[in-house]
Amino acid sequence: MYDVIIVGGGPGGLTAAIYAARGGLKTAVIESMVPGGQAALTESIENYPGFPDGISGFELANNFYKQALNQGAEFIFENVSELKLTDKVKTIVTDKQSIEARSVIIAAGSKPRFLGIEGEKTFHGRGVSYCATCDGAFYKGKRLAVIGGGNAALEEAVYLTKFATEVFIIHRRQGFRASQIAIEHAQSNPKISFMLNYTVEEISGKDKVEKVVLKNKESKEIEDLKVDGVFIYIGTEPNTKFVADYFNTDEKGYIITDEFLRTSIEGVYAVGDIRTTPLRQVATAVGDGAIAGVQIEKYLAAYERIK
Ligand SMILES: Cc1cc2nc3c(=O)[nH]c(=O)nc-3n(C[C@H](O)[C@H](O)[C@H](O)COP(=O)(O)OP(=O)(O)OC[C@H]3O[C@@H](n4cnc5c(N)ncnc54)[C@H](O)[C@@H]3O)c2cc1C
Repeated sequence: MYDVIIVGGGPGGLTAAIYAARGGLKTAVIESMVPGGQAALTESIENYPGFPDGISGFELANNFYKQALNQGAEFIFENVSELKLTDKVKTIVTDKQSIEARSVIIAAGSKPRFLGIEGEKTFHGRGVSYCATCDGAFYKGKRLAVIGGGNAALEEAVYLTKFATEVFIIHRRQGFRASQIAIEHAQSNPKISFMLNYTVEEISGKDKVEKVVLKNKESKEIEDLKVDGVFIYIGTEPNTKFVADYFNTDEKGYIITDEFLRTSIEGVYAVGDIRTTPLRQVATAVGDGAIAGVQIEKYLAAYERIK
């Protein structure tokens, strides 16, 4: 029986593990992929305090992981498929086993949103990608489209110019929902062109991506843009598939917590990108993890009195 099981080993889960294990709790993190979550897949993180010149997302995430191990947290690399949370003892079901714990922290983060257009699924892995760090190097000397108008789209477009000869940022609006610095970096990059007020109607090709079909929102004209790859950054959605309908969520499905990161179920906390929060970043996930890690200690101190 664990004191606490943390579902998800991104920045939020790893920080919760550092605090809980350091507080003497028998702690395990269950992670379906590699430790570090989305942060581990980000080329460079320039806004996490303590690294004035920025740090590679992988290195930062790996340091979080090593620190959690050093504090005594255990790691189980399995996919959580179901949670049974209504009893005092919680059961966490993975693809291989059932594990019991006195408390649970949900730190399963978020995943990229799909555009839902023709060709997106067909060419996923054959020219359609959601991760520049993972796939950018395949596009040396190629032409790329980046779809989206937020920080992630602009920052990853700049990163992709390391490989591609031309990067087109395609955005359905005239203005961006991004920081001024991200906009300036993209605008001053000679390899980046902007196609604003365009929607992407289709991604097409034979064996791999050859073009995107665009619609000019003003003239309604359809245009083809020849590209070798498409990177999609149109936001994220919470990884809540395995949590059934347990929690109160907002209209987008993010888990609602109070300021102590408690969910609507006693003994179950939620941290980081998976919860309703005004900002989804490494710094905020880490802050959440610290609060939940400490709150769990307080919850467990009174555990015997809970019916
Ligand atoms: C392209 C991009 C660039 C970004 N750039 C920055 C940046 O520059 N600065 C910044 O601060 N933030 C940045 N972010 C945001 C930042 O990465 C996230 O806010 C942060 O990683 C959230 O941490 P988290 O722990 O809540 O979730 P995540 O990082 O999403 O981690 C969740 C973990 O849970 C695991 N998981 C999910 N479901 C299950 C399951 N069923 N069973 C087991 N494990 C599961 C996942 O595999 C994952 O490892 C960026 C994000 C993206 C996508």
